[in-house]
Amino acid sequence: MDKNEGKQHILLSAKVRDFTLWDAANLTEEEAFWKFVELRWGSEDQVTCPSCGAIAKPYARANRGQLRCRHCDHHFSPFVASPFADRKMDFKKLLMAICLYTASAKGVPALFMCRLLDMQDKTATVLTGKLRESLIQEMDTEILSGVVEIDGGYFCGKPRKGRLRLKTRPEDVAAALEAKLKGEPRAKRKPRSKAEARNWARRSLRRVVMVLRQVDPQTGKGANRTRVAIAYSENERVATRLARILVEPGSTIMTDENAAYNVLSSWYDHHCVEHSVEFSTVDGVNENQAESYFSRLRRAEYGTYHGFRPKYLMDYAQEFAWREDVRKKTEKEKIQDLMARVFSTGHSHWWRGYWQGHHREDEFPVQR
Ligand SMILES: [Zn+2]
Repeated sequence: MDKNEGKQHILLSAKVRDFTLWDAANLTEEEAFWKFVELRWGSEDQVTCPSCGAIAKPYARANRGQLRCRHCDHHFSPFVASPFADRKMDFKKLLMAICLYTASAKGVPALFMCRLLDMQDKTATVLTGKLRESLIQEMDTEILSGVVEIDGGYFCGKPRKGRLRLKTRPEDVAAALEAKLKGEPRAKRKPRSKAEARNWARRSLRRVVMVLRQVDPQTGKGANRTRVAIAYSENERVATRLARILVEPGSTIMTDENAAYNVLSSWYDHHCVEHSVEFSTVDGVNENQAESYFSRLRRAEYGTYHGFRPKYLMDYAQEFAWREDVRKKTEKEKIQDLMARVFSTGHSHWWRGYWQGHHREDEFPVQR
């Protein structure tokens, strides 16, 4: 091992800042246009025509934001057949929005983006929504193997506390005291208040984000691939189904002591860590990578988005799976990774015409 290795964290080195918001801000509109051409086709000279399929250097009509094919005279934009095909925003502003999105660790709220980049809140909502759509549609679907950590975390449907703390309500305290003095058994629970009834409705929105993270086989430290799914509860059926679909048989699976995972021993080398006792066993059994994912998602829930709704929970769950997986990449690599997914998504199905009332109908499939 190099003696300097490990002294400086990768994120502190200058090499991660190879394409930042500042670089995007210093481009002209035409340079930003060419940047997107390069992000889409890898170079400005080897562009594939979407109409005839010829690969050649196209004629540029950069002031119109278009390219023209040498062979069939077809005009097309770098965003042809992508979620941003009908964009009206400047290339430069879009590039700056993407830089902002990739550089953030806990996500970018649409309202923050619209204040920074002078766009309508609707524009920023749809823009970030389309980026998340691409992350879902083009998620990494390769099977996980080696060491895989599995865990579930509860999101949405958090009950609210009432105006009064139930235990310290004066009448409750008086009643409890009286009953104690008389030697009576404890009174039955009071009937539900309106607030409590509302909380029951709220609880029905509760979902579990299930995460499966593969430990990096190269280094044995940190996770490099993440899969997520949404479930109603963290139960044996869900855990088994997800593991059997997403994890190669014979792999090592690490979980917490939840009984939902016990049956996994039939197909996998299953280890569990008792969280009530320790966070990692002496043999190194832990699920810190899964916890790291939840830590990031939870902080985004509280600190960035101020709450998730079940309908869009998968969008955020997948966004943060992606953020975890690219956390050690440079800014340029993150933009390339994100844009490769965007360009292979095709037209947006979930966000086209959103503000004209065309909303996604259902929640993403929820495991039972
Ligand atoms: Zn052509």
